[in-house]
Amino acid sequence: MDITISKLRKDLARIVGEDYVSTDRPTSVVYAKDTMPWDVEEKNMPYAVVRPSNSSEISRLLKYANEKLIPVHIHGSGTSLVGLARPKTKGIVMDTARMKGIEVYPERGYFEVGPGMHVAQVKKELAKYNALLPVFPGSELVATIGGAIAVNTSAHGVDAALGKPGDFILGFEVVLPTGQILQTGTESTRRPAGIDPTKYFIGSEGLLGVLTKIRMRLIPMPYFEQVVAYYSRTEDVLSTVIDMYKNGIYPPLFFEYLDERAAKIGFEAVGLQQPRGAVSMMRLHSWSKEGSRQRAKEFLEFLKDNNPIETKIVSDEEEWGKIWQSRAEAGNYMYRLGMTFGSEISPRVDKLIEAFHDAQSIVKNLDSYKNAEFISFGHIGAPTIHAYAFIPTKDIANEVKKAITLEMREKTEDLNIKYGGCGGEWGLTAQRVSFLKKKYGESLYELLVTMKKAFDPNDILNRGNLQGWM
Ligand SMILES: Cc1cc2nc3c(=O)[nH]c(=O)nc-3n(C[C@H](O)[C@H](O)[C@H](O)COP(=O)(O)OP(=O)(O)OC[C@H]3O[C@@H](n4cnc5c(N)ncnc54)[C@H](O)[C@@H]3O)c2cc1C
Repeated sequence: MDITISKLRKDLARIVGEDYVSTDRPTSVVYAKDTMPWDVEEKNMPYAVVRPSNSSEISRLLKYANEKLIPVHIHGSGTSLVGLARPKTKGIVMDTARMKGIEVYPERGYFEVGPGMHVAQVKKELAKYNALLPVFPGSELVATIGGAIAVNTSAHGVDAALGKPGDFILGFEVVLPTGQILQTGTESTRRPAGIDPTKYFIGSEGLLGVLTKIRMRLIPMPYFEQVVAYYSRTEDVLSTVIDMYKNGIYPPLFFEYLDERAAKIGFEAVGLQQPRGAVSMMRLHSWSKEGSRQRAKEFLEFLKDNNPIETKIVSDEEEWGKIWQSRAEAGNYMYRLGMTFGSEISPRVDKLIEAFHDAQSIVKNLDSYKNAEFISFGHIGAPTIHAYAFIPTKDIANEVKKAITLEMREKTEDLNIKYGGCGGEWGLTAQRVSFLKKKYGESLYELLVTMKKAFDPNDILNRGNLQGWM
């Protein structure tokens, strides 16, 4: 950078206001860190963190960054699990936290929201209009709606039952990396046929522009019924999913599983009796109370074909709350007691069991760390297997953490290639350049690079993420 930090601070203060620029070391450390398991390094530390309040400030900020050739990294809440949120180069971090407004227009069939509002808060506002937000990451209390749409993730198998969040986006206000403010899409509930520039920004992970306003269709809130099924083996859960697709059964909105180990940990943590094997939990929806009840009964019948120990509809909300919480607790256990190295495998449905066994073998035979424990859970109805290497200590050298992350990533990417998947969670790019090249070829990757250059000639936004820098 050609200017001093104090000059940078003054320039940024002119754009966003003195109170919304930080250049102190503790703030830089906070914004340099994300959920990746290794320590922050000097190159991750931003020169400055800014918190603009509107698109015109962002536009001025980006024009300034282009003039001075300083990278800008967009920060929602920094909860992305695959390294998107950690700045890969020194630069300015732009936090969207102040852009929180929401307007709901039931008479138009949509709502508009600022990117910095937390997902759970958006849900609370929509609930007043009996509307559903189809976004369910475990991080919803803190993740921003801007971050969720920027990675286009829904979690829990919602993709299979309803679609991804991007399927409900009607349009954006977006600030291009060069500072122009664009409006995309429609104010009708009907999306354009043919070329629809809105789609370029859905799931674009902050590489092509900053989402400053999100317009999304209102989905009437369905009725739900909950079902739990206990199995002696995880493989029986997997064959249930295979049969569900084979028999043309409409997937539940949520269809989660815990393998034998995760189920024991999770159930113990919430004070429920430890199950004898694996557990799956499902939430079925319909737009009438009778309809959802009927679906649950029919699904219960279907489940009986794959050797469950027990299946039941769970009507008691407290019981369901505990069963559901066991998923999060299995993850919390691992985070508390050691280190986890996660992955996502989303195989072709009929290859679920082979993919699961291969994932087990990867974790048990890691070159970078011996004796890692295999634990898995995930949005199996989608289908997603989250295969974790759990190491019951935090006392691992930084270089080893990186090596395990890379090995897990590379080997599970190979499973996605072998079994025809691509991963449906978390956003892909920052960790998956090698995957994109291997699966889709160098020319497709080059096309992405060319597209990024067309939007962002000076490579200002989220520099390093498309290059796969760590
Ligand atoms: C406990 C936990 C559970 C989770 N569960 C799931 C899960 O079940 N399924 C799943 O898919 N994910 C899950 N996640 C990760 C999830 O992807 C993120 O939490 C969420 O999508 C990102 O929100 P964020 O506000 O933290 O975004 P960040 O992490 O800050 O940003 C994510 C990416 O989006 C970009 N970005 C952010 N805001 C904007 C914007 N306004 N315009 C353009 N680009 C932007 C950033 O630059 C970055 O590249 C989980 C995370 C945690 C910690």
